[in-house]
Amino acid sequence: MAEQTLEQQIDALAELIVKSRRIVVFTGAGISTESGIPDFRSPGGVWSRFDPNEFTYQQFLHTEEGRKRHWQLLKQMGEMMAVTEPNPAHDAIAELEKLGKLDCVITQNVDGMHQRAGNSEDRVIQLHGNITRVYCMRCDKRYPMDEILEWLRQGTEVPLCVECRGILKPEVIFFGEAMPVWETREAEQRARNCDLCIVVGSSLVVYPAAFMPMYALQSGAKLAIINQGATDMDGMAHVRIYGKGGEVLSQVMPRVREQLR
Ligand code: NAD
Repeated sequence: MAEQTLEQQIDALAELIVKSRRIVVFTGAGISTESGIPDFRSPGGVWSRFDPNEFTYQQFLHTEEGRKRHWQLLKQMGEMMAVTEPNPAHDAIAELEKLGKLDCVITQNVDGMHQRAGNSEDRVIQLHGNITRVYCMRCDKRYPMDEILEWLRQGTEVPLCVECRGILKPEVIFFGEAMPVWETREAEQRARNCDLCIVVGSSLVVYPAAFMPMYALQSGAKLAIINQGATDMDGMAHVRIYGKGGEVLSQVMPRVREQLR
């Protein structure tokens, strides 16, 4: 079969969206790079500046040095996320909700961009948590990340709870940490029940999150992947578009609108 042109792929995705009623969008760090937040694995990504082996939950929990390192990275990411805005890819997914097409977004991201773009809180399943909130691991007191960032700016290296001196941790799932039970179960159920799964900006190598598109496929849904780099599921996708999420979806959505009119 002849390779499809980009135009044909964009038409094919628009057609899939128009025909679908329960779309699950699965997103990874790549959807937020057009907002200026680097992903982990691309050249210039976070792992080209930090060593991934030094960022595990166990190191955070058991060593002061590990916590210091984590907070250096969290400070950089938190500062960046505070000043960045959703991009056209986030906007397109918010529009899918307004059009009544979206069942939910399952995201690996911790940046809260889907909600900021207009998706309802109850339609965004955050598999790896949210960086805007911090909690005490001993007494569970909650803090906004903005407050902790201010402490870090003033020289604190490892923030501790003001009430009990317990370890403070952002509400994000670190590598090596157990996945949140409700979110993981809910995401699997929604993925198994959708009629179209659209992956945007994920290398699909972080498990168990990357099982979600697989569950969708196994249950008979169509699969579309928009990602710059290769993924292990490329061969299984009904539509595979190599490109930037924002650029691609900005071309897809006018065609969807047109056909729904
Ligand atoms: P990843 O870094 O493994 O992969 C990102 C993928 O996105 C790559 O394959 C890359 O080719 C692609 N990509 C980059 N820019 C793109 C664009 N504009 N359009 C389309 N594709 C693009 O990320 P991952 O698979 O999401 O896994 C890393 C883990 O780190 C996840 O848990 C993720 O949530 C977390 N993380 C989150 C953020 C965030 O919240 N913004 C940022 C960095 C990492």
